[in-house]
Amino acid sequence: MTTALDVQSLRAGYGAINVLWDVSLTAPTGKTTVIVGPNGAGKTTLLRAIMGLIPITGGDVRVNGRSLTGARTWDSVADGLVMIPEGRMIFPDMSVDDNLMMGAFPRACRAGWKRNKAMVFDLFPRLAERRDQIAGTLSGGEAQMLAIGRGLMEQPRVCLIDEPSLGLAPVVVDEIFRILAKLRAEGLTIVLVEQNTSRALKIADHVHLMRSGRVVLSEPGEAVDLERLHALYFAHD
Ligand code: ATP
Repeated sequence: MTTALDVQSLRAGYGAINVLWDVSLTAPTGKTTVIVGPNGAGKTTLLRAIMGLIPITGGDVRVNGRSLTGARTWDSVADGLVMIPEGRMIFPDMSVDDNLMMGAFPRACRAGWKRNKAMVFDLFPRLAERRDQIAGTLSGGEAQMLAIGRGLMEQPRVCLIDEPSLGLAPVVVDEIFRILAKLRAEGLTIVLVEQNTSRALKIADHVHLMRSGRVVLSEPGEAVDLERLHALYFAHD
């Protein structure tokens, strides 16, 4: 098994405030790595640091063996790291189609845009039906599908997905997790941050629990003892 993403002793935060304390985890190629943890544990901060959106103050991030420490976000994208952020962050005034084309902007994936868009429309027929619709008028679930679709247009080697189920109705959450399970089955390397632990565990090859900026549990998905996970999840600092 090869390692797509290797995070070692990572420290990062915001200005003088440190949030991540020596975080180490790996994401194997073609597998789904799930990161769970309570509010404020540092999950989003970890994804931001991996992407180079905030400076790393210690440790290292490697993608397919190449160190990204000190790299700009653009270099991370060029190396195949894609982040699908919390809150979708689609372009509300642009059409569905144009939002997808924004995902095809990085040089490395321009040539394959037609094939990639066909693949996205195949995965999300609702986006195909709404391709000319202004993205700001999509439902929450459709907007999340668009955010995932735009990420897939970037031909990710490692796809970081932050809280895709946030704020969605249960039936829509089912649909999003069905898509994630399909992407997992197709062998996409996924790093998924989720607060919906029970659903996330169903598609997890590996699970990491974060608390207060630290990884406090790392286990293969099938080995996770839910009682122990919950005890650690809700423990007081
Ligand atoms: P949630 O599940 O609620 O999204 P999280 O695990 O993703 O939580 P983060 O959003 O990474 O947690 O936040 C970790 C800590 O960093 C929190 O204490 C938060 O207040 C702080 N933080 C997040 N963003 C900033 C920022 N831009 N400036 C300063 N502090 C921040």
